[in-house]
Amino acid sequence: MLPVFIPNEEVLTSLIERLSLEHHWLTEGLRCPSPHQSVRLKETISLIVLHCISLPAGHFANRYVPALFTGTLSTKEHADFADLEGVKVSAHVLIRREGTLLQFVPFDQAAWHAGVSAYQGQSGCNEFSIGIELEGTEHSSYTDQQYQALVPLIQLLQKGYSIPEDRVVGHADIAPGRKTDPGPGFDWDRFWRQLQAR
Ligand SMILES: [Zn+2]
Repeated sequence: MLPVFIPNEEVLTSLIERLSLEHHWLTEGLRCPSPHQSVRLKETISLIVLHCISLPAGHFANRYVPALFTGTLSTKEHADFADLEGVKVSAHVLIRREGTLLQFVPFDQAAWHAGVSAYQGQSGCNEFSIGIELEGTEHSSYTDQQYQALVPLIQLLQKGYSIPEDRVVGHADIAPGRKTDPGPGFDWDRFWRQLQAR
């Protein structure tokens, strides 16, 4: 069982201010190492992909998403999980509704978030991307705290791995017709505004 830690505004701000990288892990994230990772075979990191997830859909702050990403979810735990039998997925980071960060895979390893995908002619995006999941659904708003954590996280990763702004995309952009997340609930204008203002 993962600890449920809900920071107040002040604590979240101080966590975010101290956010940095140490051997490809976030210093201020909760580490939940996942077996769903692989060595990046040749390509360097050059893309950030934003996703959303919640299990069951629309239910937040439970253990199911971390359990899915670490291979410890039993599909018997909920009727909605039948389709997840044998599914091995992960992301580098999950940003929970209250703005806390859970990291499952170190950034120098490939996390299994993209599936069949391509960006600007380069296929198999897991190899060269970092996957960030926002706890949520495609059609509901993300929280202020999630933007508050996401923006500095993206800046840190862009700086740490030399990723230009035009290579921060949604899952929908690398798997069109198959994926639609993070969906209309994600305010890209707000995200870019906050990113540029920092
Ligand atoms: Zn996705």
